[in-house]
Amino acid sequence: MTAHIKPQRGILDIALYQGGASKIAGVENSVKLSSNENPFGSPEGAKEAFSRAAHNMHRYPNTDHGALRGAIAEIYNLDADRIICGVGSDEIITFLCQCYAGVGDEVIYTEHGFSMYKISALAAGATPVCVPERERVVDVDAILAACTEQTKLVFIANPANPTGTMIGTSDVARLADGLPAHVLLVLDGAYAEYVEGFDGGAAFVEARDNVVMTRTFSKIYGLGGVRIGWGYGPAAIIDVLNRVRGPFNLSEPQLAAAEAAVRDTAWVEKCRLDNARLRAWMAEALMEHGVPSDTSCTNFILARFHSQSEAEACDDFLKSNGLIVRRVAGYGLPNCLRITVGDESSCRRVAHTIGQFLEKTR
Ligand SMILES: *Cc1c(COP(=O)(O)O)cnc(C)c1O
Repeated sequence: MTAHIKPQRGILDIALYQGGASKIAGVENSVKLSSNENPFGSPEGAKEAFSRAAHNMHRYPNTDHGALRGAIAEIYNLDADRIICGVGSDEIITFLCQCYAGVGDEVIYTEHGFSMYKISALAAGATPVCVPERERVVDVDAILAACTEQTKLVFIANPANPTGTMIGTSDVARLADGLPAHVLLVLDGAYAEYVEGFDGGAAFVEARDNVVMTRTFSKIYGLGGVRIGWGYGPAAIIDVLNRVRGPFNLSEPQLAAAEAAVRDTAWVEKCRLDNARLRAWMAEALMEHGVPSDTSCTNFILARFHSQSEAEACDDFLKSNGLIVRRVAGYGLPNCLRITVGDESSCRRVAHTIGQFLEKTR
């Protein structure tokens, strides 16, 4: 009997996470396009570094992540002392909520925003506040209007998941400038590498004391299964986050794989270019079938159908043909499906199959 043993406030309001499906019963050769994973896998150097690290599994890992932070700083031209590494950028988001938002505090995220913001806010006992977007784009004015004395954190992903849209530098500047002095702005740059020449918000971190950027190795670097991400912020904030970070939060294989991956700049370039080409092809092919999408700045497309029932029926048809995409009704987008940009044959297969579905149903 646990009737008297109760979890902290907010915990039971968290819905259990539903991951992107990876198998379909009875179907072989299914293609998973539901979790924005890199269709080209992981860089060879990262696999080798991961295997080499297996020889030292009896040793505790390095605790300050100096080598990885140094590599990130070198490649991205940042200050290594203001980088913090975590178990995916999810852990950085968790640290931010744990450190800066508690009971009675408000954490702002947007209408179709990434699910971790709400989950982490609730886990910290804080109150998540959902702000409307404008046509699937983050609305700076709506965020500014929603700020109160209790607001502690504002999370936006730029580019965003699951919409694929992004806001420009002047809008981010207006947001950072317009926030009350007690509010920290978090720019989640999980997809930043897919945007040519984009720094993910690093320049805002350098120029201000109220902005933190989060980044990940899960997307373009193809290390989603290894669980590693990082954050960049003002020294005082990184110092705070490091106090709650477990001293051994990352294992040596994780650190070694990430360090090798970040140094493989040719990999990032190749994946960005391939993704841009296949994404453009797929968006156009879907448009020709009468399925529009916003211009995507990421490695997925948010395909818009006429209705929720059409989107669901199309998802069922794709599944029966071995294609796994993501329903996003839980993100307030019931008539949409989120489709990761796969390799060339997957893109062709998914576009062709959606075309077949619409031919027989519309
Ligand atoms: C995929 C994704 C992440 C990455 O999370 P990890 O914990 O680093 O795997 C972060 N933010 C957004 C918006 C994402 O889509």
